[in-house]
Amino acid sequence: MSFKSINHVLGNIERSAQWQEQLFPRLLKCWVEVVGNPVAAQTRPLSIQRDVVWVATSSAAWAQNLTFGRKTILMKLNHKLSTSLVDIRFSTAEWNSSSITGTQTTVSASEHPSYVADDMTAMKVTPNRENALGAFENWAKIMQVRSHGLPLCPQCQCPTPPGEIERWNVCSLCATKLLE
Ligand SMILES: [Zn+2]
Repeated sequence: MSFKSINHVLGNIERSAQWQEQLFPRLLKCWVEVVGNPVAAQTRPLSIQRDVVWVATSSAAWAQNLTFGRKTILMKLNHKLSTSLVDIRFSTAEWNSSSITGTQTTVSASEHPSYVADDMTAMKVTPNRENALGAFENWAKIMQVRSHGLPLCPQCQCPTPPGEIERWNVCSLCATKLLE
């Protein structure tokens, strides 16, 4: 097969895909009219793929009943749309997901706790650690200046006379609190 004929075939596939994409909104428009309100309430056309209409149904019973009656629906559809669709497939599989599910699924996938956690671990841990360390060093320097070189109480981080820390391991205030 030459490139030219492959391109020709691909072109045909593309065109027919486009045609079926354009066809689908038309099918949606006449669906209620073709199947009637009671059936329309239990069904939702999903797509047209290779001249087969895929329809979600609310229950397995509906899928079964409509599968038996699909030739009639198909005839009406083809008449209405001037198409030559070959079949209709009914399935409960997609019933609980609406037509905008695609985007919803994508969003919820990225919002999934573990997905976000993985992302955070990969992206942010290193800079966070550096920032935290830098912030601590700055804070320690400031505290050292403020405390005129006095050691800090390990409990409340206040500048504390070395004698207090020697005696209680904390400042006198914290020592009093610990004794209470
Ligand atoms: Zn203290």
